[in-house]
Amino acid sequence: MAKMKAVQVSKPGGNFEIVERPIPDPGRTQVRIKVEACGICHSDVLVKEGLWPGLPYPRVPGHEIAGRIDAVGTDVTQWKPGQRVGVGWHGGHCFVCDPCRRGDFVLCQVEKITAIHFDGGYAEYVVVPAEAVAAMPDELPADMAAPLMCAGITVYNSLRNAGARAGDVVAVQGIGGLGHLGVQYARQMGYRTVAIGRGGDKEALAKKLGAHEYIDTDAGAPAATLQELGGARVVLATAPDSKAIAALVDGVATGGKLLVVGVGPDPLSLMPLQLVLPRRTVQGWPSGTAMDSEDTLRFSALSGVRPMIERYPLEKVAEGYQQMISGKARFRVVLTMGG
Ligand SMILES: [Zn+2]
Ligand SMILES: [Zn+2]
Repeated sequence: MAKMKAVQVSKPGGNFEIVERPIPDPGRTQVRIKVEACGICHSDVLVKEGLWPGLPYPRVPGHEIAGRIDAVGTDVTQWKPGQRVGVGWHGGHCFVCDPCRRGDFVLCQVEKITAIHFDGGYAEYVVVPAEAVAAMPDELPADMAAPLMCAGITVYNSLRNAGARAGDVVAVQGIGGLGHLGVQYARQMGYRTVAIGRGGDKEALAKKLGAHEYIDTDAGAPAATLQELGGARVVLATAPDSKAIAALVDGVATGGKLLVVGVGPDPLSLMPLQLVLPRRTVQGWPSGTAMDSEDTLRFSALSGVRPMIERYPLEKVAEGYQQMISGKARFRVVLTMGG
């Protein structure tokens, strides 16, 4: 039986083990992908450290997958071997629960999550449900597409559904793994784009990514500065710092939205009055379906939005993961498979 290289974690808190496994065969409704690149996302700590209740081990992490279809199950009609594709966090849905019957697959009550409910992309091959697959445009190299499958879709899909219109002020809090993409998308979607970061050293980068304005939170009250710009129709909060996020709510315009995708451990404290009279909304947003991923990839190819990445070969997974955890990566770490 043909073998592949894969990286597994055998127990909560265990090390990454580089192992040989049989190349898995796709079931009837699944496809097999020859992985070319896989992003290392901060959420991979769920697998590495056992923070997902009931997660079976050993498990192969990785939900930012880019590669090429290599085999398809007998019931799969829409995918063919050779197609370039990606797979993200949303790893499949049941089609029969109430949210699925309403077509809202990302809210499926038994949603499958890539690398949580089945093995992920830190491997040479991965088998996934056919409905989890997004087509990847030829203009995007696999290592550039991979981070768009989680970090990219999360900011792109949340922003495009947040209600801002061309020309509106949209602020992106945090210039990191999510934020450096959020600034680019906000600019390319036609918003007056305000980047919010800590310290002056990120201003030049934020402007290079497309920000019209930069607010240094160390230099004063960022909410007041946003109000001087007329208030933000949307504040996209990407850095996982609940205190810093809560400090921005008064910078949201009347009727505007605080859109939270950065998941920190602390409660988000807001006074009801900060929401009530200005009729502000606080909303969270999960990533999206494969179709949303496909839109993300196409928009990125069209508009030139690209992640900034650091590449590591699969064998150096421990080093790459450490670089991600350290917060020093600029900005996404991507594993590349062979070649
Ligand atoms: Zn992720
Ligand atoms: Zn469902």
